[in-house]
This record gives sequence, structure tokens and C-alpha cells, in this order.
Amino acid sequence: MVLIDGKKTSEILQSEIAEEVVKIKFLGGKIPHLAAVLVGHDGGSETYVAAKVKACERVGFKSTLIRFEDNVTEEELLKCVAKLNNDTDLDGFIVQLPLPKHISEEKIVESINPRKDVDGFHPVNVGRMVAGVPAFISATPFGIMELIKRYKIETSGKNCVVIGRSNIVGRPMSILLSQKGIDCTVTLCHSRTKNLKAICAEADIIVAALGMAEFLTGDMVKEGAVVIDVGITRIKSDKTKSGWKLLGDVKFEEVAPKCSYITPVPGGVGPMTIASLLYNTLLSSKKEIYK
Ligand code: NAD
Repeated sequence: MVLIDGKKTSEILQSEIAEEVVKIKFLGGKIPHLAAVLVGHDGGSETYVAAKVKACERVGFKSTLIRFEDNVTEEELLKCVAKLNNDTDLDGFIVQLPLPKHISEEKIVESINPRKDVDGFHPVNVGRMVAGVPAFISATPFGIMELIKRYKIETSGKNCVVIGRSNIVGRPMSILLSQKGIDCTVTLCHSRTKNLKAICAEADIIVAALGMAEFLTGDMVKEGAVVIDVGITRIKSDKTKSGWKLLGDVKFEEVAPKCSYITPVPGGVGPMTIASLLYNTLLSSKKEIYK
């Protein structure tokens, strides 16, 4: 069994990005610039945005953080997005989700210029991904594809089961895995799927992205399968210093011994997500998606 080391792979990807920035600086080019918009004080969002800003510093990007209180109006946020769309120094920006209930996430995401949508959430980027033309791919699926490629996991003709059909993880995963060159035969499962256990037991590759701690058990996985665990559930623990521990969607002790490859939680898919966002920003600054 090979444990897929997302932390190490993310560090490698970030050092590759940092090397590119050094080259850009040496040649007198413009330093990549990423902005993040954060609304309110949700603990998770604060942590993610702080990590993104810190990662920008690490690779030598310029970063800007724009903060609003919870009571910001949709109109004010739309105005901010319009300003960022027109800021010629910015290569990309993200609006950290979730947003307060009185603001339509759909409206905000659709107002972002697809050329600066480094989160890859805009329908234009989703459509381009489906059509197989260059697009900003959302960070978590991009990170997973990068792990699969860097660990040289065979995908051609393999039966792949993706559990979860969200717009940011499951659905894009199913599209990327079925695209030409990757060539998996994909089954996309969700909360209404019948006989999930039997479907998983036939899979060569399983991507678990449903957000239910330790859902995938040993009896659902065949010998030699590749298992990618996207889930993150925070549960209270008296065994850790922080008082919390993270659980994936996979019952690791049961599943890991049967696998050829498996990602742990933490240290698997999670660390790749921020590196992928930085990579999208680099691609944007080099005009490699929209030429
Ligand atoms: P979501 O809640 O938007 O979607 C969950 C999906 O799982 C839905 O499509 C639903 O139909 C499906 N589902 C729910 N119960 C099911 C069941 N019993 N059987 C089969 N399918 C079922 O979640 P999301 O945003 O896609 O996130 C999924 C998990 O991944 C969460 O734990 C989230 O925290 C984690 N996540 C991790 C990263 C990362 O960087 N590692 C990034 C994004 C999300």
C-alpha cells in the first residue's frame, strides 16, 4: 500500500511555483497577484483565507485581503467584485464561501470575470472544463488530479466511483476523470444512489467526497483499489492538544490494508487545495488559460 503524501506533493508544487516567480522577477515581469474577499468572521473561512494569504507570501506572490462585515449588502459586494474585475494589477481573486444568507452566492460568482476566476467556480470555467478546453479548474479536483498524475496512478479504462455530486468537488471530479487522456469509466453516486456498497466493491478507484465521517468501510472496497478521501469532518477529541481531530470519509484502518494507494486525512487532499489555487493564479498571470 502506498500512502499518498499530499503535504509533500503540495510543498513540491509550491516550490515549483516559487521558482517560476523567481524567473519572472529576474526577467523584470509582473509578480502574480491574488486577492481574497472575506465576509464576516466564520472560523473556517478565516483559517482558509489566512492560509491562502500566507501561501502567497511563501511563493513570492503579491496578495490582497479585502474584508467586509456580515451585514455587507449584496450590492456593495457586487461593486467590490466589479472593481476587482477591472483592477489590471490583479491576476485573480476569490470570494471565500459560504456567504451570509442574504447574499446570493450564485449572483456573486457569476459577476466574477471568468479570466480572474482562479477558484474555477464561474459557469464559463465549468463549461470550458466540460468541453475540454483550457479552464480554471476548481482547486480541490485540480489537486486530486495532480496527485493521481504525480503518483503515476493508472487511470485508462479503470472503473471509478465518485461519491458526492457537489459543484466544487464530486461533479467536476467525475468530468475530469472521464476526460480524454485520463479515460476512466466513471459512476457518479449521491445520496439517492441505490446499492452503493455493491457499486463501490467493483471500483478500481474511489473518490469519497460526501462529508460523512468514516462512511467508506473495508467491506465496500476491493483488494488493490485506489482510494482518495476528500472528506473533512471535525470532531471533538480529548486526545489532541487542540481538542479537535479531523476525520475523512474513509474508515482508514479498515480500508488502507486493501488499497494499492490511499490518501490520509489530514495530509492527503487538503494540502493540495491551496497549492492548486496558487497554480491557477500563476497560469492566469502567464495568460495560459485565456490567451
Ligand atoms: P456537499 O455537502 O456539497 O456534497 C455532498 C454530496 O454527498 C452530495 O452530492 C450528496 O448527494 C452526497 N451524499 C450525501 N450523503 C450521501 C450518502 N449517504 N451516500 C452517497 N452520497 C451522499 O459537500 P462538498 O462541498 O462536496 O464536500 C464534501 C466533503 O469534502 C466535506 O467533508 C468537505 O468538508 C470536504 N472538502 C474537502 C476539501 C479539501 O480541500 N480536502 C475541499 C472541499 C470539500
